[in-house]
Amino acid sequence: QFTPLAADFTALAAELAPVEQEFLASLRARLERDIAPIVDEHWEAASFPSELPGILAEQRACGLGFAESRPFENSAVFRGWVAFELARVDASVATYVGVQNGLAMGSIALCGSAKQRQRWLPAMAAGDLIGSFGLTEPESGSDSARGLRTTARREGDEWVLNGSKRWIGNATFGDLTIIWAVDEADGQVKGFVVPNSTPGFVAEKIERKMSLRIVQNAQITLTDVRIPADHHLEHATSFKDAARVLRETRAEVAWLAAGLAAGAYEAALKYAVEREQFGAPIARRQLVQEHLVIALGNVNAAITLCARVSQLLDAGEQTDEQAALAKATATRLMREAVAHCREACGGNGIVLDYGVGRFFADAEAIYSYEGTMEMNTLIVGRKVTGQAAFV
Ligand code: FAD
Repeated sequence: QFTPLAADFTALAAELAPVEQEFLASLRARLERDIAPIVDEHWEAASFPSELPGILAEQRACGLGFAESRPFENSAVFRGWVAFELARVDASVATYVGVQNGLAMGSIALCGSAKQRQRWLPAMAAGDLIGSFGLTEPESGSDSARGLRTTARREGDEWVLNGSKRWIGNATFGDLTIIWAVDEADGQVKGFVVPNSTPGFVAEKIERKMSLRIVQNAQITLTDVRIPADHHLEHATSFKDAARVLRETRAEVAWLAAGLAAGAYEAALKYAVEREQFGAPIARRQLVQEHLVIALGNVNAAITLCARVSQLLDAGEQTDEQAALAKATATRLMREAVAHCREACGGNGIVLDYGVGRFFADAEAIYSYEGTMEMNTLIVGRKVTGQAAFV
């Protein structure tokens, strides 16, 4: 039985189709039973729960948007709610799905041939193959549209890749990585499916992160990595194709940010009702109520914008700028919301056991990945002013 979350104050999720609601009810119950109890331990240890891919595959959380792997036809708004429900429990879990489903499977779905889609998507949805997305490099983050240094050279029936990548989620334990590299022949950025077991592919874990500690990010080096010609994604022939993938994933990260803020809000509300000071629950105090209501308002402002941008995707009308506006706005609202939630919990707001601290720390990475707040702002700024401010 599905009920909209209390954080969904205007019950927007009540608009979903019955089959979508049923899916979310099952997902929520499973996350609360099997995932919520283990995330703090993993966060502290900076370890990834090895059971997670299997659980998420059983719940069909990956591949929902692709004809080759979806269990039923569904809307982009529904898929946004999936990201929301995941992040409400844990942002690292939602990020794992964002990488596997949105970035890796999304690259194959949007840029692969029919044969390539069939070859990889069903196995990835089933959790048999875990994927990563390698765009960012040590020397090229925000400027990856023009600054990539990783190269691809065609030699007979093979491509030879050389270079390095940074921040690549899932790559320390995954099976394949979508590597974006500059073709030495025509200077265009192209996308390749690289099995992580290929000789010359080395992934090292980035240690000592203070945010999204459960997500395993890798520094990758590629030294004469040889892959068969049919591992080049057929329709990934310029940076514009990587940007097509990022448009859709950015809109989903906006949902993820709203879900993270909802998780923090729920934890702060629980704390405020239980914690007594001056002889009464702190929830009775006007200033504490203000913290909670600002967070609740931010969650709802974000999901309303996210839902509209997702509707535009289904209508085939979503633009890069709309996705960028959703990501920039939802992450800004998220960051403000988690700060209020943390403040409402006083000192315990920074202790893992009270729920808010993990969301507070994780918000920082969401704010910066898939285009920083600034870069997404500049994408919208270019549209509204007609002036590109990047360089
Ligand atoms: P930089 O580009 O160095 O930016 C530093 C600061 O300068 C930022 O505030 C930025 O907004 C600002 N800035 C830069 N240029 C301008 C400008 N022209 N005008 C105004 N401000 C500017 N990448 C992948 O490819 N795959 C992944 O799976 C992946 N996962 C990630 C997971 C995590 C936890 C993190 C933190 C990052 C991940 N990334 C991934 C990389 C992420 O997309 C980049 O961190 C992001 O694009 C920013 O790049 P950067 O960190 O190099 O920052």
